[in-house]
Amino acid sequence: MNFQREYSKSHREKGRTFDDLTKEEIYHMLYHDAITGYYNWIHMWHTLDPQNPKDYTYGFVHFDIKDFKMINDVYGHGVANDVLTMVCHHIDKQDWVIQGCRCDNDNFAMMVESCDNNTLQKRLDKFFEEISFLPVNKNYKLYYRCGVVTVEDAIKKADTVADLAKLAQRQGKKHYCTEIMFFTSDMYEKINKEQKYLSYLEQAIENDEFIVYLQPKYDIHTEKITGAEALVRWNYKKEKLLNPGDFISVFESNDVIGKVDQVVLKKVCIFLSEMKKQGIPLYPISVNLSRRRMENKHLKEQILATVDFYEIPHNMIEFELTESAAYSDRDSMLQLLSELRELGFLISMDDFGTGYSSLSLLKDMPMDTLKVDKCFVDSILTSSETSKECILLKEIIWLSKMMGFCCIAEGAETKEQVDFLRNAGCDKIQGYYYSKPVPMEDYLLKIREG
Ligand code: C2E
Ligand code: MG
Ligand code: MG
Repeated sequence: MNFQREYSKSHREKGRTFDDLTKEEIYHMLYHDAITGYYNWIHMWHTLDPQNPKDYTYGFVHFDIKDFKMINDVYGHGVANDVLTMVCHHIDKQDWVIQGCRCDNDNFAMMVESCDNNTLQKRLDKFFEEISFLPVNKNYKLYYRCGVVTVEDAIKKADTVADLAKLAQRQGKKHYCTEIMFFTSDMYEKINKEQKYLSYLEQAIENDEFIVYLQPKYDIHTEKITGAEALVRWNYKKEKLLNPGDFISVFESNDVIGKVDQVVLKKVCIFLSEMKKQGIPLYPISVNLSRRRMENKHLKEQILATVDFYEIPHNMIEFELTESAAYSDRDSMLQLLSELRELGFLISMDDFGTGYSSLSLLKDMPMDTLKVDKCFVDSILTSSETSKECILLKEIIWLSKMMGFCCIAEGAETKEQVDFLRNAGCDKIQGYYYSKPVPMEDYLLKIREG
């Protein structure tokens, strides 16, 4: 394989048009990736050719680079493209790789020679280790998330081999390490379940199967309700109640989470509008805004259409966003948030401390509230007050106050945690100590009880 990035350059220089291309040149363009010059997914797909089972055995590997967007954001597209090319070169050098390609973005695939899992694991460990740093900064570690379909499964399920490898890949959820996940049949059941959820989503919305629970947020001093977070539940086929952990990530990774978020926002608006009609005092309710929705150009209009239809004051709706480096376009995300904030909506940064762009986002993100993640609150019980975790927790609360944000702690379950948080200067608590998420009617009762 030769890397012919030169090809399109010379073609442009000669000022030729598409009609002048030879058949070979058209094939080249069809089967190669413009950025790296390496094979593309179309080439791999033709090699896999599910209609014609192979007369040789092979395994299939799919991987991506963890937090690749961070490299784009911090070092720019040129460096990011060099990383992609480095990976392609490295695939091309392996004598155990039958065929490789760059699928799209930072996704790569390899058909690999048949061997036992142990050998393949060792080969892949070495493979990723050799490309584990940024060419322009050897101190910047690169990590990969890799899914592997072993030989038998690859042969049996040639038509879904890439889906299975991607499914295995998605099971890798850790930070700061390369993960190689081998596909297992349990995962296959999981993919079936995911497909079932996805294909049923529209009907579930029509059947009104999504239910909104509210978890009250309490003022840490007065111990009175100051608002709530809307947390979705799915009364799946009206047979069993599913928690968000069972389905949110499925909808997020398939870019349909907006449909659920929109249902939740609408239900919250209807609830607030009922309260308004009955003369019950309103407190802000927060809804989770999946970061994948930031790419939707009509998001602001969609939100406004719902909230204004029910004539809900904008400051009664808060949007919770998780901090993450993975925004494909950080600037437009920040722009959208400031527009929402200018319109009077409240913005809070959810699960603070779990991502790792926290500090820079804190500086740039237009926001009102910082939600300290439950993992810090847990450490009050498991570590001493002088432990690193507790010191960090106190500093986060201090920092948030100094920057003028309201600080709320998530997941406090005991009096000891609440007392610690109060002493550290935290403003509000959302946790089982005061209340679990409850149906809307029960939230109303709690407000009435004062
Ligand atoms: P989150 O936004 O961080 O919500 C807080 C989660 O922590 C909720 O879990 C809540 O029940 C749980 N929690 C609160 N206090 C305590 C406590 O004291 N102890 C324990 N053990 N847990 C506590 P839940 O309802 O299962 O939601 C999980 C996640 O699912 C949410 O995390 C949010 O990221 C996502 N989610 C929920 N509803 C929606 C939604 O409508 N749209 C989107 N996009 N995501 C949602
Ligand atoms: Mg939240
Ligand atoms: Mg949270």
